[in-house]
Amino acid sequence: VFSESDTLKRVKPSPTLAVSAKARELTRQGKKVISLSAGEPDFDTPENICDAAIKAIKRGETRYTDVDGIPELKSAIVDKFKRENGLEYKTTQVSVSPGGKPVIYNAMMASLNPGDEVIVPAPYWVSYPDMVLLAGGTPVFAIGEMETGFKLKPETLEAAITPKTKWLILNSPSNPSGAVYTADELRGLGEVLKRHPHVWILTDDMYEHILFDGMTYATIAQVVPELYERTLTMNGVSKAYSMTGWRIGYCAGPEPLIKAMSKIISQSTSNPCSIAQWAAVEALNGPQDFIPQRSAIFQKRRDLVVAMLNGAKGIHCPTPEGAFYVYPSVAGCIGKQAPSGKIITSDEEFAGELLQQEEVAVVHGAAFGLSPFFRISYATSEIVLTEACSRIQRFCASLK
Ligand code: PLP
Repeated sequence: VFSESDTLKRVKPSPTLAVSAKARELTRQGKKVISLSAGEPDFDTPENICDAAIKAIKRGETRYTDVDGIPELKSAIVDKFKRENGLEYKTTQVSVSPGGKPVIYNAMMASLNPGDEVIVPAPYWVSYPDMVLLAGGTPVFAIGEMETGFKLKPETLEAAITPKTKWLILNSPSNPSGAVYTADELRGLGEVLKRHPHVWILTDDMYEHILFDGMTYATIAQVVPELYERTLTMNGVSKAYSMTGWRIGYCAGPEPLIKAMSKIISQSTSNPCSIAQWAAVEALNGPQDFIPQRSAIFQKRRDLVVAMLNGAKGIHCPTPEGAFYVYPSVAGCIGKQAPSGKIITSDEEFAGELLQQEEVAVVHGAAFGLSPFFRISYATSEIVLTEACSRIQRFCASLK
C-alpha cells in the first residue's frame, strides 16, 4: 500500500488548480461554467518567439544544455536586468529553470534547514507556503490589509522577523491582489531589512510587465542597493510573453546561492527544454512593443471587472495596479442566506454557492491566506467577463 512521505504530508495540492479541475468536471457534465480561476494570459505566444523555437529545432538545438541555462539565454537575462531594472549581474549570477515555480522551489531547497522561517506576506500566491514546507522550513504569515492595498507594512515585517528568519518573499505585482509596491514602499521595507542582515529576500517579479495607470516598476535590489548581496531577483517569460507552457523561469543573485541551486538542478530536473530556452532568448532580445499593448487590454478588462463587481450587493472590489487579478471582499455577503437555504459563513462557501448557483468558478480567499475575499483572473475576453460579472451580481442580489 502506498503511503506518502512525511514531508509530502505537510503540503496540500494547489487549490487554484483544484478549482480549475472542478470547473472542468462541471463542464463535462454539460454545465455552462465560466472559470475565472486560471492564472495565465489568454493571448498566444508572439509569432517571432514561436519562429525562434522552430529555427532552434531545425538547427538541431535538441540536446542537453548546461543544467542552469545556455550562455545565450544567460546573456539575454543579464541584458534584461540591466535594461529594465538597472541591475548589474554577471552570467555566473544567473540561473534558468523550467518555470518560475522551480526557481523558488530550488532556492528554498538550497537554503532551508528544519526550523528556518520564511516570511510570506498574505494574501500570497498559493505555492509559497507549500514550497517552504516541502523544503523543510516554516512559513510565517504577515498580513497586508485591504486598507493598505494588501501591501506589507514595515512594522508588520519588523514584527514577523525572528532570529530564525531566513527569507522574506516579496511579490509585486501580486498574485492574488494585483498590488504593486512603489519604490518608496520598497525603501520602507528596506529600512527594516537593513537592520536584520540575516534575512534574505526573494522577489518574485513574474508580473512586472502587466502594469497599469502609468505605474513605473521597482524591484528591491534596484531601489535598496544595500540588499543586493542577499536578494534573489526572480522573473520569467510565462506571463510577460504569454509563454506559460514553454516552462522558462529565471533568477539572478549572489553566486554561492546560484551555484547551490545549480547543484540541485543537476541532480533533479537537469536543463530546461533546449528549444524553449532559445524561444526565451528571442522573447527577451526581440521586439517588446506588444507588452504595453497587452497591458492596455488588461487595464480595460480590469476597469470593467472592478466596476461590475462594485455594482454587486455586498462586494467591495479595490482597484489593483498590476497583474490580471482582482481580490474583492465579500464581507458584505457573510451571514446571508443563499437560495439553496445555505447560510454563507466563509469565502469558501461563497465560492461554492456561486459555482453551484451561477456556474462561475472563482478561488476563495482562504486559499491565499486572507479572508473573506475571492480572486478573479480576468485574463479572458470582455464578453466572458461581462457575463461572469452579471452572474455574480445576480448571485449577490439573491442573497437574503
Ligand atoms: N509566481 C507567481 C506569483 C505566479 O502567479 C506564478 C504562476 O502562476 C509563478 C510564479 C509561476 O510561474 P511559472 O508558470 O513560470 O512557473
